[in-house]
Amino acid sequence: MRDNHLHTYFSYDCEASFEEYLQAYEGHIVTTEHFDLSNPYLGGPRDDVPDYAKYSVAVAELNLSYGNRVKRGIEIGYYAPRLADILAFLEGKDYDVKLLSIHHNGRFDYLEEAVFELDREQHIRSYIREMQEAIKSVPAHVLAHFDYGFRKLQVSVEELQLAEKDLRLLFRLMMEHGLAFEINTKSMYLYGNEALYRYALKLLSDMGCQRYSIGSDGHNLAHFRLGFDKVEELLSEFQIRKEWLV
Ligand SMILES: [Zn+2]
Ligand SMILES: [Zn+2]
Repeated sequence: MRDNHLHTYFSYDCEASFEEYLQAYEGHIVTTEHFDLSNPYLGGPRDDVPDYAKYSVAVAELNLSYGNRVKRGIEIGYYAPRLADILAFLEGKDYDVKLLSIHHNGRFDYLEEAVFELDREQHIRSYIREMQEAIKSVPAHVLAHFDYGFRKLQVSVEELQLAEKDLRLLFRLMMEHGLAFEINTKSMYLYGNEALYRYALKLLSDMGCQRYSIGSDGHNLAHFRLGFDKVEELLSEFQIRKEWLV
């Protein structure tokens, strides 16, 4: 089971090196570096773009010394006003894993306190609809952390259920576009959103989803493959087969 959501110093908010992960774990890794345009977080707004040329050289060199254990990835931060720039950057670039995310609304990142100023119910719905637009607009492999926009709000399953219609449409679009659903272990085990993931997995199972991705969203070694033993149990509980994992 590969950790499909991982960052290194090629991401603006991360210092970790590839070697830390490679030395701690014998299997394959993929790093999914942040690509966030007009990012308001940590003193922005600015365009956070992973250096493609340097990244390609770094991964190629590591693959020589670590027996081809490194795959190439990117975490695409969808932001509608910059869609043309996002697509232009991705054009002609080669990634093994493209995650699709929404982190901010141009004014603030959803992990910032300002998220508490929004109307909760309305925000959950509009965040889900924004993800629907992202899927229709940007080719990718994985829908990352579907709960990111309301991670901080400690949303209950009952509250999320109010948006079940929108959520079902989102998952339908995700499946139609061939994206996998990300089981984000940081959301589940660090932010306490396991119940939301269980609810989503139930819906997905009812809908016949057969593509899933497991990701820690690690920014340091301590979070790399976080909770992967517990995820094994979750997979068997929801009868998710290993061959369905991307
Ligand atoms: Zn993210
Ligand atoms: Zn990430």
